[in-house]
Amino acid sequence: MSRVTIVDEREPLTLTSDKGTQGYRNWWPGPDATMLRFISRSIDIMEEMADESRNAFRLGRTGYLFVTGSKAGTDRLRETAHTVSGFGMGPVREHPGREAYRPAVRDGYRNQPVGADLLAGEELRRAFPFLAPEAHAALHVRRAGCMNGHAMGAWMLARALGAGATFVRDKVTRVATTGGRVRRVDLASGGSIDTDALVIAAGPMLPEAARLLGVELPVFHELHAKLTLRDVLGIVPRTCPFVIWNDPVSIAWDDKRRRELSGEARTRHLLDALPAGVHLRPVDGPYGDELFLIWTYHTEPCTATWPPAFDPHYGDVVLRGAAQMIPGLQRYVANAADGVVDGGYYCKTAENRPLIGPLGVDGAFVLGALSGYGLMGAHAGAELVAAHVVGGALPDYARAFLPSRYEDPAYRAQVAAWDSLLGQL
Ligand SMILES: Cc1cc2nc3c(=O)[nH]c(=O)nc-3n(C[C@H](O)[C@H](O)[C@H](O)COP(=O)(O)OP(=O)(O)OC[C@H]3O[C@@H](n4cnc5c(N)ncnc54)[C@H](O)[C@@H]3O)c2cc1C
Repeated sequence: MSRVTIVDEREPLTLTSDKGTQGYRNWWPGPDATMLRFISRSIDIMEEMADESRNAFRLGRTGYLFVTGSKAGTDRLRETAHTVSGFGMGPVREHPGREAYRPAVRDGYRNQPVGADLLAGEELRRAFPFLAPEAHAALHVRRAGCMNGHAMGAWMLARALGAGATFVRDKVTRVATTGGRVRRVDLASGGSIDTDALVIAAGPMLPEAARLLGVELPVFHELHAKLTLRDVLGIVPRTCPFVIWNDPVSIAWDDKRRRELSGEARTRHLLDALPAGVHLRPVDGPYGDELFLIWTYHTEPCTATWPPAFDPHYGDVVLRGAAQMIPGLQRYVANAADGVVDGGYYCKTAENRPLIGPLGVDGAFVLGALSGYGLMGAHAGAELVAAHVVGGALPDYARAFLPSRYEDPAYRAQVAAWDSLLGQL
């Protein structure tokens, strides 16, 4: 390795990367195969790292389970599954059907099915008896699961340092350029680093970091929270996949809470149907008793300020929403305040694709706007940005992530027709 210096003003992985659900999936519904190909490459790298580290970061393969309560929802899931299968996810199997359904394994990630299983009726009840009786069908995406993101990052950092990289705890405050080329990075401590290649990977601070080069990036932020709750009664089996209720949910509030919420303009909307997507997963697979619960019922863009302030009702709302899909969780509702709410910002582009590549100033590159897929996407992202830096061969998806893609009016028109929530959880 030629000399690489990693500069971070905080302990690495303590801003956004340790706040998420830390899941991964080869489920990317479109508009084409780009994101699926990118993330699949990233999962390949994660699996190689898990092999090499003897799975120090507990990569698991319990899958993602998208559940719907209606026949129409089932038809949509089936159709989307066939589309994603066409992008390269793997085959779609239906149960009951010709093949027996293979449940997920407790631990590990090798020798598992790929593609997805669509379960209905008795097959669904047998496989996931803890789901609400309203569940009509569920799609179990198999090249998917979770990891311990902090352990993964710590292992990667140790490997990088072992290979000769240096870590500097400092803030980048200025980038010196001459002749349109990066020459030096100045630090808050007064120090500086001479360099002819700079990769900006500043998470939610991406806009400010790019402005050090006079570059405006087309990104915005959404605040995403999560609740960590102890499942002391063992309601959710520890082998449970990352389970997502795919339909909007109207919470069955009791009269007292209904009166409280209807009394204030800013809480009244909680009485309406809230968007699809409430989800949860056991933390750390078979170990411990914690659950992560997430429901982003506010996705409007916001300013990224740290530390973020969360909706005081969040824990209560997400727990009640999750209890609609797993009724046993109702037993924790009175104690929602025992859970811990944290989270962070998704930094994203209009079409929910990352920014990876040269920044228009010689020697400056970006790896960012990783939205809600930065833990699963960082590996292929880092490989791609490294290829840009050293002038290596680029994969076919490289063009789709270039910051310069927005210079093309035809592309901008295409993006206007896409959805910034595409592929987002
Ligand atoms: C609630 C939630 C759920 C999520 N769930 C998932 C999931 O299931 N799967 C998944 O893959 N992703 C998920 N994500 C997204 C994922 O966490 C992010 O995409 C990822 O952490 C972004 O990583 P990053 O390195 O770009 O940013 P960060 O982790 O924020 O790191 C950026 C670093 O840059 C440093 N920095 C910034 N500016 C400077 C400067 N000027 N000088 C020095 N240092 C600087 C910061 O100190 C920080 O440490 C989730 C996110 C949230 C909030």
